[in-house]
Parts: sequence; structure tokens; C-alpha cells
Amino acid sequence: MQTTSDTLALIGNTPLVRLKGPSEESGCDIYGKCEFVNPGASVKDRAALFIVEDAEAKGQLAPGGTIVEGTAGNTGIGLALVANAKGYKTIIVMPETQSREKMDTLRALGAELVLVPAAPYSNPGHFVHTSRRIAEETHNAIWANQFDNIANRRAHIHGTAEEIWTQMEGKIDGFTCAVGTGGTLAGVGLGLKAKDESVTIALSDPYGAALYEYYACGELKSEGNSVAEGIGQGRITANLEGAPIDTQFRISDEEGLTWVRRLLAEEGLCLGLSSGINVAGAIRLAKALGPGKRIATILCDTGFRYLSTLYNREWLEAKGLPVPAWLAAR
Ligand code: PMP
Repeated sequence: MQTTSDTLALIGNTPLVRLKGPSEESGCDIYGKCEFVNPGASVKDRAALFIVEDAEAKGQLAPGGTIVEGTAGNTGIGLALVANAKGYKTIIVMPETQSREKMDTLRALGAELVLVPAAPYSNPGHFVHTSRRIAEETHNAIWANQFDNIANRRAHIHGTAEEIWTQMEGKIDGFTCAVGTGGTLAGVGLGLKAKDESVTIALSDPYGAALYEYYACGELKSEGNSVAEGIGQGRITANLEGAPIDTQFRISDEEGLTWVRRLLAEEGLCLGLSSGINVAGAIRLAKALGPGKRIATILCDTGFRYLSTLYNREWLEAKGLPVPAWLAAR
């Protein structure tokens, strides 16, 4: 392998792995895009890089400037790394309900962390609105605005979708993932449809999100809730506008957790819950399309980011979620 001095070139070009258990379960070939191998250990490094380079290209970000963003954590981690590599500062606004590991990581990377109480989007104190206000009040700052800045989905049209198409040698029948900003689903969906209109694009929505109902019957309506971080959207973001979604599934935390645990115990992959929900969605899509099909999904981030939650017995018990045998034994 050649050497590189461009650390930002380490973002993207992630491996695509065939998942044995999900493939056997569904009678299809199910592939997971290993986004946890990005430098910030999540899919959001891609959006972070595109958003920053888009702002630079538009002349919005002067040397020594500050990048401000509201995030469930992973985008902040990606932005902090990209900012460090390019000589910018970061201010990250995050709801205080996110995992301890994400907060510690952001502080460790040098970001200024602003924690706000979890609030509905309609509340001016919501983390997204707070981050916009801070950006407006800070000299030489940009607001990354990942939800409505379509540089986010362009990262997936030009990066993730192209890579999946090449890695699967153009033989792909379906793609699915969950939505936080919608950048991944819309971007990969648009990118793959541009290659082959017949690829089925499916939404895998957690409970507590409003998009399943929206794509099924045109109404933004939610039901139940989820402990999954980084996903679960209640509105049509600019990134979701025009997303080519053919079908939709609603996936419970229990179903997602089952796959998080099977992938760890049987295939040696330690992942977050959005990855489990995506894999459960890929199995639903495979069963809907029929045997022998080739489906791709996203393994969004590393499970090491959730040691105090998903992989912690006390936390699981407090949430009323099943505890796996290897954690119950301690
Ligand atoms: N999973 C995790 C763990 C995330 O942090 C995010 C980003 N919020 C997503 C999935 C969803 O990605 P997107 O924002 O592209 O919809």
C-alpha cells in the first residue's frame, strides 16, 4: 500500500463486508458498509468533510475560523477531527441525553462542548437552534447545519453510493438504512438510482420517529420510542427532500439489539444500535424482495461509543431491555 500524508484522505473508501448471519437468515446476500473504520469511527466523518470543504469553496470559512454544530455526537466528532486537520476550532452543541463516551471523546479531541437539555424541535432551546444562535454570535464562524445543508448528502452521492456500486460490481437489488439527518439514505438512494433505477431503496425507521408514517401514508406521525442515538427524525429535512424511497419498515430496539448482539457474538463486529436497526431492516427488505437478492446497508458507528449504555448491564436493566448472557454473568 502507498503512503499518504493527507489524513483527511482516510475518510471514506470503507470496506463492505458480507454478513453471514443476516444472509443465512434471509436467504439473500446482505452486505454491511463498515463506516466504523473511519477516523472518527462513524459514517458522519464523510458529511463533516464535505460540509467543511463546501464552506471553504464558498469562501465562508476564513483561516482560524470556528465550526459550530448541533449533533447527537458523531457529526461533532467528525467535525472536530476535520477542523483540527485544517486549523479551525469547533463548538459542539449536544443534548445531555447522549452517551458519556461521545461527550468525553469530543472534549478529548479539543472541541468546546455545550450541553443542553433534550427538547422538542419546536423549542428554541433545542440543540439545533442553540447551535445556530451560537454560530451567529461567534466571530468568523460557520454553522454546519447538517440537517438542512445538502453538502451532507452529496458526501453519500459521490462517496458512499459510488463505493457500494463499485464494491458490489453493479449487482445490487436493494439498500436500506435509518435516518438521522437523512444524508445517508437520500444520498446513497440518489446515487444508486442514478446507476440503476431498479435498485429498491427502503427506510428503516426506529419507533419514536415520524418518517415511517410519512412515507407509508403522507403524515408525519410517531409512535413509541427508541434508545437508539443518532437516528429518529420528526420532519422532512432538506437532505430528505426528493429522497427516492420505495418502501419502509419500522424496527424496534429489541429487534435491532438482537442483531447488534448476534453480529458481536457470531461475527466479531462491535456496533451501535443504529447499525443493528439497519441490519434488521436489510433482512426485512431481503425477505420482501425474495431469495437470492443482494442488499447493502450501513454499519454506522463503533459499539465502543456505547460501553456505558448498550453494553452495560445496569443501563439495560434500567431501560427494561434484555441483558445478554455474557453481561448477566458478571
Ligand atoms: N447512526 C448514527 C450512530 C448516527 O450518529 C447517525 C447520524 N446522526 C446516523 C446513524 C444517521 O445518519 P444520517 O444523519 O446520514 O441520516
